[in-house]
Amino acid sequence: MVEAEYDISTSLISGRYSANAGPPVLPMSEAQIEARDRLMARIASGRYEERWSPCGICAGTSFVVIAERDRYNVAVKTCICKGCGLVQTNPRLRSEDYEDLYKTLYRSLYTSSEVPLDEFFKKQKRIGRRILDYVAGRVEVGPGTRILEIGAGAGGTLEVLCAGGAVGLGLDLDETYLNHGRNRWLNLQFGAIGSFDLAFRPDFVVYRHVLEHMVDPIGELKAVRVKGRRGYTHLYVEVPGIDSVEDGPTRLRGDFLRTLQSVHINYFSKASLTNVFHLSGYKVLKIDDSIRSLALVSGKEKQGLQVTEDWRVVLERLRCLDNRLVGAGEAML
Ligand SMILES: [Zn+2]
Repeated sequence: MVEAEYDISTSLISGRYSANAGPPVLPMSEAQIEARDRLMARIASGRYEERWSPCGICAGTSFVVIAERDRYNVAVKTCICKGCGLVQTNPRLRSEDYEDLYKTLYRSLYTSSEVPLDEFFKKQKRIGRRILDYVAGRVEVGPGTRILEIGAGAGGTLEVLCAGGAVGLGLDLDETYLNHGRNRWLNLQFGAIGSFDLAFRPDFVVYRHVLEHMVDPIGELKAVRVKGRRGYTHLYVEVPGIDSVEDGPTRLRGDFLRTLQSVHINYFSKASLTNVFHLSGYKVLKIDDSIRSLALVSGKEKQGLQVTEDWRVVLERLRCLDNRLVGAGEAML
């Protein structure tokens, strides 16, 4: 589809979100600045190509541009889909460009590569304990439970989930993390759900801070669903929520601009993530604004959207957040 077939207008959240509004909203190390500049050069030279894409939830092609930069001043556009209210990066890089970016620049630019792996592993273990608390009473995680974690990193979360006798497999695309966990005898493999030949039917599947990176979240969750069991396999999904910026990590300080990353394709709300579950064949058991959620493989895909958000309401929420921030003087670095 060519750009002329898209309906695109611009209504930025505030002046802070324009391309040249000021310095990056988070401090950057020398290595991060270098990685950012290399990314921008690859886009400018045409090695990476940006293309408008239909919305990943409703296939709509009408968008309102609400931001022109990310937290590190990478010149990417964040839009709201007028069809379903999903906030998303658009135009996007081609999938081969994202693959290359993850292999060559992502770790230096966006992950805390300065955090020692042992610390990262401990953090993952804390997350594992939080997940067990969240699903307690609804999901049996014990001897014989088969767990699949997508984006398992170094496997700290998986280790906690398996501590009571469950067996698990973690998939990830980062060999450094994977090797760290393998040294602790964790079952970690390189791969993603679409390309990995899974030898078991998982009872419990975990996606933590993964789905926001995916161009096709519905296709991803459908691929998991067919490997699970109807009425039995549970899915835990956690993503950064556009309505939880204020309760998020302290360095966000209620600033949505600090959450923007060129590699985040989707910025979910409770309503838009619920759409993803319904359209990929899951029944939502619980979901909050944070966003943490638990769903069950239901086998039936709902026809059409059951829940849609008005893009104007979404934009208004983001504007209110920004107004409060500027009023509190937090927007000034
Ligand atoms: Zn949409």
